Amino acid sequence: MRITCPQCHQSERFTKLRQPYHFSFGQLVLGLLGGLIGGLFWALGQEGKFQCSQCSHIFYTHTTASRVFFALCVLVYSVVAVGICYGLWTAFVSSP
Ligand SMILES: [Zn+2]
Repeated sequence: MRITCPQCHQSERFTKLRQPYHFSFGQLVLGLLGGLIGGLFWALGQEGKFQCSQCSHIFYTHTTASRVFFALCVLVYSVVAVGICYGLWTAFVSSP
């Protein structure tokens, strides 16, 4: 997947910017539910922050890797969600 500047549409030179890691309560809950793997995939699946070397425009975009990790993250959390539903269902069914 090519990265293209949304402002000047060049796709050659970009600077990958560091993003400060924002920790939120939602992420804590997701991290606890999905475990370390889900949390790691989630962090790697975030959009990258880039600066165009031509017009200095700063923008966010997904790279191929971030899309793959985001898909893996969704998969992990889907499995966790199904697991929780199954656990609740079995607890409900087995209760007198
Ligand atoms: Zn540009």
